[in-house]
Amino acid sequence: MGKVYLVGAGPGAPDLLTLRAAKLLARADIVFFDALVHPETLALATRARLVDVGKRNGRLSTEQRFTNRALVEAARTHETVVRLKGGDPMLFGRAQEELDALHAAGVEVEVVPGITAALAASASLGISLTRRGLSRHVAFVTPRTGVDQSPTEWLAAASSADTIALYMAAAQAKQVATDLIAAGRPGATPAVFIENASLPNERRVVTTLADLRSGPVPAFEGPALLLVGEVFRELSLGAMEHEAEVRLAITERCQARSA
Ligand code: SAH
Repeated sequence: MGKVYLVGAGPGAPDLLTLRAAKLLARADIVFFDALVHPETLALATRARLVDVGKRNGRLSTEQRFTNRALVEAARTHETVVRLKGGDPMLFGRAQEELDALHAAGVEVEVVPGITAALAASASLGISLTRRGLSRHVAFVTPRTGVDQSPTEWLAAASSADTIALYMAAAQAKQVATDLIAAGRPGATPAVFIENASLPNERRVVTTLADLRSGPVPAFEGPALLLVGEVFRELSLGAMEHEAEVRLAITERCQARSA
């Protein structure tokens, strides 16, 4: 009987991987991976069979059951089985279902943490999610619901936290902003989308809850996180200053040209 490792692949950049994860990949006989895992990370698994079990958005529970079963079966025929998941496996990664299935089948499992998207986003924005006097708590939430949950179950936790990191929320961002304002958050609260955090094609959109509620919501092709809270205010100031600078530069150039 082999052993299964639930391994965090980190937020995207292949070098944001733990050494433990890299060593396990090099040793792995079989690797089950998700859609968001970078090809360079997979390339570390030089001797393994690679199995794609990923599907962006709305993975069905039947598919999850298939993955659970495949992991148990793989452990019967392989020594080192790696289940590679984006970010950290224990946050919004269905890890518990896989752990439970493996435990129930008597398979040994170990979890290897990874850098979760919110912390990669915080790093690349250069904004701490906590700050003395301004933010003492951070909520990791998703508005995405399971079949028997009410659509605003995330709201209680989110509205009592100073800083909110919303996973799988970009498509519902308008509703999220509407709900947060209705729950008492000021409309002027800064909100930042960050797409492909840690990757070269990272993109940010800085806005506020009120603008998000009433204005257009940006479209994203890659994975995107929505961050909300006062700690992000300096980003919007930065964006405004930058815009003012650009406008000034354009005005100066126009004046120079007409002179
Ligand atoms: N276990 C993962 C989260 C899986 S849920 C983790 O710890 O990061 C998938 C969601 O994570 C996406 O919908 C998006 O909201 C977020 N996400 C994952 N990678 C991201 C990235 N590089 N940039 C921004 N958001 C990301």
